[in-house]
Amino acid sequence: MASTNIDVTLTPLFTGSQGSASALNVNQVIWGRAFRQGQDIFELFINTASIDMGYVSDAGVLFSDAEGELQVTERIKKSGPVTARVWKTGRPTVGNVSVIYTALPRLVSRDTKNGPALDLRVDQGGLIGSGMAFLGTPPNEPEVTILTTLRWDLSKSPQGTLAAWSMGDGEGPFEIATKSLVGIASGVQEAYFAVGPLHRMTSPDDYMHINEADVFNMYWFGTPTFDPLPLGTRLQMLFREMSAFFRDRGNRYRIFLRHNPFRGSLTGTALRRSFMYGYDDSERDCPPSLQDREAVLAHEMVHNWVLLTRESVADNWYHEGLAEYYQVLLRFRFGLLSAREYLEQVNEKLVAYYTNPLVTWSLERVQKMTWNMTDAQRMPYMRGFAFALQVNDVFRTARHSIDDLVGPLADRLQGGESVGVEDYLQRLSQLLGGDEIRADRLVTEMKEGKLLIPRVHGLEQLP
Ligand SMILES: [Zn+2]
Repeated sequence: MASTNIDVTLTPLFTGSQGSASALNVNQVIWGRAFRQGQDIFELFINTASIDMGYVSDAGVLFSDAEGELQVTERIKKSGPVTARVWKTGRPTVGNVSVIYTALPRLVSRDTKNGPALDLRVDQGGLIGSGMAFLGTPPNEPEVTILTTLRWDLSKSPQGTLAAWSMGDGEGPFEIATKSLVGIASGVQEAYFAVGPLHRMTSPDDYMHINEADVFNMYWFGTPTFDPLPLGTRLQMLFREMSAFFRDRGNRYRIFLRHNPFRGSLTGTALRRSFMYGYDDSERDCPPSLQDREAVLAHEMVHNWVLLTRESVADNWYHEGLAEYYQVLLRFRFGLLSAREYLEQVNEKLVAYYTNPLVTWSLERVQKMTWNMTDAQRMPYMRGFAFALQVNDVFRTARHSIDDLVGPLADRLQGGESVGVEDYLQRLSQLLGGDEIRADRLVTEMKEGKLLIPRVHGLEQLP
């Protein structure tokens, strides 16, 4: 099978008397791949989903191979939500190709608009962000496996410097293999990175990296507005239980906390096996409760297993609704919520559903308003939640629960299969004794905006 190898070395640079991490030297060696004259050789994102990224120092991006310096020409390419700088080589390449540049953080202030947490930033003496923001890659080759070896060079870093990324912490090397997919060339872009005076909470059995298959770690710089340890300890327990519940094969998860100088409390973005969780200064005056934070992060953890790989935009009722359902249900089932708290949470969600002015709108119509009003943004979450209760209730007479529907879809997802709403429908009708018409009607009515009134069997029975 064809493969391209990429060796990536990341060297953080520090400035000031405090030794604050201020830039990242990126050194990539691409081997096992020859480029023709005029062929695209490398691309670096400069904007994704309206977030600026891809800043480099004035020295620019330097290319060379076995014959020395490579002359390149550059252009800007737009595709979907991504704008990228693309370089093509002026002559055929010989041997390994090296790409070297110094990546700089994005500058943010009080006035920066909150958005997906994909940019690279300075945070309390450290650097933290997603790989998309600073790791360029060669363009995709269909059907080629990319083997990336990633290392941190901390030999010139101040004492106490720690590096971590979604796939592990310490200097590495870390090896990952990925099939090239559209937009994600090397698999290292869909990950979070942090380096500097980093604090971490590790799984009890992880501090020697004995068991990389059972990891729940949390990382942060400086002093967050809350104590990360009690939250981390509860989430660690919950993640273990969730992994077992969803028959997880990887069993790894890493949460990165990051300070937002702008309004961005209880926000965040999920990448592979990891989540960037934002907090802001408003929390010092009105702190969210431990339960609030836990609910947000538990919801995100559920997405590890509850996700559709093929979906139209109006189908987010599936993963958002079920993430809401399971974050509440599993916290109750595994003892993090008392029966009373569980009921309160369920009622809170149902109240939000019934009082949403768009409750009887079709999801297609709701979707068009998503970025204009919060009610539209929240609707799929609440409707999907109410629908999960309804499906549970419908199943009760057939002695099934929604777990029998979601579990197999999660299995297939983990097995690398693509999963879509048709698969949900198929499994639903199977569990209804092959009643395709009924399955289809349930989903269609929900999407069209028929008011959902789940009955008593929709809820996990209280002890
Ligand atoms: Zn979600």
